[in-house]
Amino acid sequence: MLKMAKKHNMCFALIKLSQTHKQQLPAWLHCGALLRTYHKLKDACLKQIHEVKSIKDLLKVSNRPTTVPHHWESHDCICGLCVSDRLAGCKNPHKCISTVAVIINNLTPKFNPFYCPINDGLTLTHCRLEKNTRARTQHRGDIIFDPSVSETLQLAECFRIFAGDTRTAQAPAHRLQRPNQGQGQQEPPIEIYTDSSCINNGKNNAQCGSGIWFGENNPLNKAIRITGKTQSNQAGEVAAILIGL
Ligand SMILES: [Zn+2]
Ligand SMILES: [Zn+2]
Repeated sequence: MLKMAKKHNMCFALIKLSQTHKQQLPAWLHCGALLRTYHKLKDACLKQIHEVKSIKDLLKVSNRPTTVPHHWESHDCICGLCVSDRLAGCKNPHKCISTVAVIINNLTPKFNPFYCPINDGLTLTHCRLEKNTRARTQHRGDIIFDPSVSETLQLAECFRIFAGDTRTAQAPAHRLQRPNQGQGQQEPPIEIYTDSSCINNGKNNAQCGSGIWFGENNPLNKAIRITGKTQSNQAGEVAAILIGL
């Protein structure tokens, strides 16, 4: 089955992962881990003593400094969790916490549980989702398209064939941010004049060219000879605008 999956370029191909999905993924051999994320010796204690299996388990270890009172960043910390770790055989719980931080930092943004970009508004509010459900069941009212690309399926259903690792982006999909109000208006508008002319316009041997003019002695001013089969006055006009832009 694995051979067949490989043959058809099957891979774990999600556009954007929810926090729950990120935490469900395995901590080891993670598909979003960069090179040199893992260290055989350092990771051994995490696997055997701390019993880390998923990203959720890694987070539990890494959150200790902020969630456990009286924990201090030292090998001889006497907080409850560090003491029980040492009793279980961990020589230096603090070192293991640092190893976890390295692993999580080496996950690409798409999979990194700490990567939280600003809200791009591509998820309907809870209220709107309820309205959609009501409209659907009662066959009355508008159903608003849900533009969210965060996957809500079970992890096992998130594999795609014909995708392949090289075609799967490691960055999560987000709507590009609109510039803040007022931003982008400091630049003065640019006026560009374009024109085109064509010798033998409408005939087989037509040859057109264009001109772009920004202003007197402007180095961006250009005279262009249009190449290709389509030679007409209009082709020249369009080419001038495109090149000008
Ligand atoms: Zn501690
Ligand atoms: Zn340890």
